[in-house]
Amino acid sequence: MDISIVIPLYNEEESLPPLVEWIEKIVAQCRYSYEIIMINDGSNDSSWQVIENLAAANSNIRGICFQRNYGKSAALHCGFEAAQGDVVITMDADLQDSPDEIPALYNMICNEGYDLVSGWKQKRYDNKLSKNLPSKIYNATARKISGIKLHDMNCGLKAYRREVVKSIEVYGEMHRYIPIIAKWAGFNAIGEKVVEHRMRQYGTSKFGLNRFIHGYLDLLTIMFISKFRKSPMHLFGAVGSLMVLIGLAAASWLGIYKIYCLSAKIPAILITDNPYFYISLAAMIIGTQLFLAGFLAELVSRNASERNHYLISKKI
Ligand code: UDP
Ligand code: MG
Repeated sequence: MDISIVIPLYNEEESLPPLVEWIEKIVAQCRYSYEIIMINDGSNDSSWQVIENLAAANSNIRGICFQRNYGKSAALHCGFEAAQGDVVITMDADLQDSPDEIPALYNMICNEGYDLVSGWKQKRYDNKLSKNLPSKIYNATARKISGIKLHDMNCGLKAYRREVVKSIEVYGEMHRYIPIIAKWAGFNAIGEKVVEHRMRQYGTSKFGLNRFIHGYLDLLTIMFISKFRKSPMHLFGAVGSLMVLIGLAAASWLGIYKIYCLSAKIPAILITDNPYFYISLAAMIIGTQLFLAGFLAELVSRNASERNHYLISKKI
């Protein structure tokens, strides 16, 4: 099979029929063998009935229905698991992503050697400063941290080589960082294509302003995990030990100085009256806590089921 089109959706009943019709037109023109996998993420409108009707009319359409709303990442994850095509294309269900882009994306994966191609909504039609400006800042940060030169990391329209979606795991709200996750997994040919972005015609956006708070927190998690997942002690242990050492050295200095003063009969204040005593005490306590946190994290990661999970691309 040439293409799997994975569509996560949450309350998009009006958009689905025109979207499917449009996709069918494009794939028929290009003569692709294809499947459309629609993941109904716990919609409370009639989206699932619409999918059932569409699937009854076209045997290339498959549907997955969640019992409740798990989020876009969960929907993508299940779509990726089910996908069988050589190229997997994800797109939003709200008609903001244009199916006209499918042939070009397919070609970039098949003929130009890309593992992943991300759409770039160069001209956005969200009509909101609240979305465009933070999105620019956010993308610049993500570029800086990941080293992946993408302008629009979170674009819903993306194309993947099949091995990529079978090797990566999207969870929580990590759908915003799929290119970074793919890069970790060793897929470095990551490209970008300017895509047409359209106005939302039906329904409302499912992500509010908190997307940026969550987005940034997730970015921190991504940074942290990519550096220290397999060896948390390298961070916590180092900082913790350093703090304990500094605290210990400072406290010892106070003690030695006090003894010196007593023996030389120089008047000196009580150690407990010295503010530096409390600073060094705090450093030692916090240092120990950090060390312990690192140690516990190390024990947890030792028990992680995927601790010895490696992606092997070839064997002879
Ligand atoms: N979506 C989903 N589960 C959710 C939220 C959103 O499957 O919990 C889908 C939604 O139906 C749409 C896509 O994710 O197909 C992108 O959502 P939306 O258009 O609301 O995001 P925006 O375009 O505003 O960034
Ligand atoms: Mg949208």
